[in-house]
Amino acid sequence: MAPAPTVLIMGPPGAGKGTQAAHLVEAYGLRHVATGDLLREAVASETELGLLAKRYMDKGDLVPDEVTIDLLREVVSSLPDDAGLLLDGFPRTRAQAVALDEMLGRLDRDVSLVLDICVPKDVLVERLSGRWICRTCGTPYNAATRPPRVPGVCDLDGGELYQRSDDTSDAVSNRLDVYEQETAPIAGYYRDHGTLVQIDGDQPPAEVRAALDAAMQPVATG
Ligand code: AMP
Repeated sequence: MAPAPTVLIMGPPGAGKGTQAAHLVEAYGLRHVATGDLLREAVASETELGLLAKRYMDKGDLVPDEVTIDLLREVVSSLPDDAGLLLDGFPRTRAQAVALDEMLGRLDRDVSLVLDICVPKDVLVERLSGRWICRTCGTPYNAATRPPRVPGVCDLDGGELYQRSDDTSDAVSNRLDVYEQETAPIAGYYRDHGTLVQIDGDQPPAEVRAALDAAMQPVATG
């Protein structure tokens, strides 16, 4: 039997990772692990980790490596052997990429494929500043490009739409700078390992999805 794949989805804030990750999870039966979601849950439950993380997240800064690496180590170590994994928002630094290789190696796994969604900065700023998300199902909307039928209400399940506290203009521009400086360079790390596939994210979601599906074929069929 082919080993369970470990797939990474990378891309700057606003690249459409959330929308595309939902598709990949559904189409390929992967477990979705998004460190941003795990951290937001910790913030909402006001755990010690959440209180610490909030200070960084509100400004759009990265939460320190030792915190996010420990958080992910906990999740990865409790995975069943046959669970395919979609990692979203991790790694974001070179130290995290190295730590990920080490934690997967202990489980006789490795990174099978890195899907890097690329979008120009001006498009990202426009997308993020109008972004609204359903509190219940996580579907993203955009005031300019994909408005909900009824303002403030999810088309799919009637859930309340909210804006993330780090989608304000100062935090957005900092998150984009942090991405460029800290995270974009790890594409080179995965290119050297032969696992990187870059996808043009500045096209309609259905076309991005088709490009991702094509990239998934070698790992999906084993
Ligand atoms: P996201 O939902 O992936 O955009 O993440 C939201 C915020 O959570 C980021 O701006 C960071 O402050 C924090 N975060 C999420 N994942 C990581 C990570 N792997 N390393 C450091 N900070 C992270």
